[in-house]
Amino acid sequence: MDWDEFSGWSKHIADWGAQYHKSLRDRPVRPRTRHGDTASQLPAHPPAKPEGMQTILRDFETIIMPGMTHWQHPRFFAYFPANAAPPSMLAEQLANTVAAQCMLWQTSPAATEVEGVMIDWMRQALGLADGFTGVIQDSASSATLSAVLTMRERATNHTGNREGLSDKGHLRVYCSDQVHSSIDRACWVAGIGQDNLVKIPGTGPRHGMDAAGLDAAIRADIAAGHTPAGIVATTGGTGVGGCDDLEAVLTVARAHDLYTHLDAAWAGSAMICPEFREDYWQGVDGFDSIVFSPHKWLGAQFDCSIQFLRDPAPQLNTLKIEPEYLKTTGAPVTNYSEWTVPLGRRFRALKLWFLLRSYGLEGLQQRIRNHVDWARELCEALGEIEGFEIATAPILSLFSFRCPGDDETQQRLVDAINDDGRIYLTQGLFQGRKIIRVQVGQFDTTREDVMSVRPVVQEVWEKIR
Ligand code: PLP
Repeated sequence: MDWDEFSGWSKHIADWGAQYHKSLRDRPVRPRTRHGDTASQLPAHPPAKPEGMQTILRDFETIIMPGMTHWQHPRFFAYFPANAAPPSMLAEQLANTVAAQCMLWQTSPAATEVEGVMIDWMRQALGLADGFTGVIQDSASSATLSAVLTMRERATNHTGNREGLSDKGHLRVYCSDQVHSSIDRACWVAGIGQDNLVKIPGTGPRHGMDAAGLDAAIRADIAAGHTPAGIVATTGGTGVGGCDDLEAVLTVARAHDLYTHLDAAWAGSAMICPEFREDYWQGVDGFDSIVFSPHKWLGAQFDCSIQFLRDPAPQLNTLKIEPEYLKTTGAPVTNYSEWTVPLGRRFRALKLWFLLRSYGLEGLQQRIRNHVDWARELCEALGEIEGFEIATAPILSLFSFRCPGDDETQQRLVDAINDDGRIYLTQGLFQGRKIIRVQVGQFDTTREDVMSVRPVVQEVWEKIR
């Protein structure tokens, strides 16, 4: 392909993209395909001869698109959102076109410097203290892994990387039972192990870990000869939005000199609205590491997770490695690949720059406030369906409900709703019972889209009950 052809096809794809987004409400949110439908339409062997872009794009429309779930659909209420505001998509197109590998300052000076400034803009936007710095990672899972590795190295006097863990006894990490599975996985990969991830039951209206229980677990571990390494707290757990009391967790952490990481991957976006900080963010400045993903609720196209660090030194001491081929000369610079597990890095900061400038904080705040208000309104409306119960009240814009019947009935209802296609919901497990989650957060959703959930749920329920 020459660059004139590239230009023509790029325009074609841009037009296709605008049409696609305008037509989303006419499509089922989740595709009506069966397992294997897409793969069965693809040849078993790679093409020996070149094919034209026209043919490839035709197949994209006829083979691929019918098998896609529409995450940007305004009636996507499943999981958490993965919003992609149009200006952030444009930034991604530019980043993809320049196609720079931004691992070191010198491999893309502007990318490194925009990243530093975006982290500071977001620090201010989230009301975090002056002095926090950070790095943009691909995902919250990677940020949490970095933090857990740092806990491990700090707890082993920075000998784990060199000597391995075989004679280090049991390192222990603490969290609530509401954390995302990325915390479990970080402990597996860091060599700490699932059995050494101590989960304190979430209690109270926010489902946060009980600080006295946390303290008792740490003391019991010390008495048993184990080595506490760190605490992972949560603001906005995936299941039902569980939130820890940050100040209480930090008091325990300080008493035992433990490294602390906060997973606010989803709820962090809401902290651009000062009114939510009182309830969800008190004490946040005491955390050593905080992850929040602008690729979820804020509108920066996936992937884009910011890991804020109060002091980057412990993480750099854990992850920095400098073979000869990566050394740079001249004045000291920031090389963000030294802060993360992967070496290679995309220019992720560009989409944040485009997003923040295109909407301003006020535009983004308005969207989040609408989502929180509409979620509360929808929660009330669903609670009015005969026999339905609200299982967990809204935390920001996430709540859950149950229809009459056992767990199997809840799953039948979710599956029937999603097969219907007008909306998309997912199930969860809370206190041993299956629940049906609703989160409101899609970038282009309207009050009408949100309120359409109740009649759809009711209609599908009447059919399957
Ligand atoms: N933390 C929370 C609270 C989440 O909800 C999720 C994913 O939904 C993650 C972490 C993991 O996010 P990522 O896909 O960016 O690794």
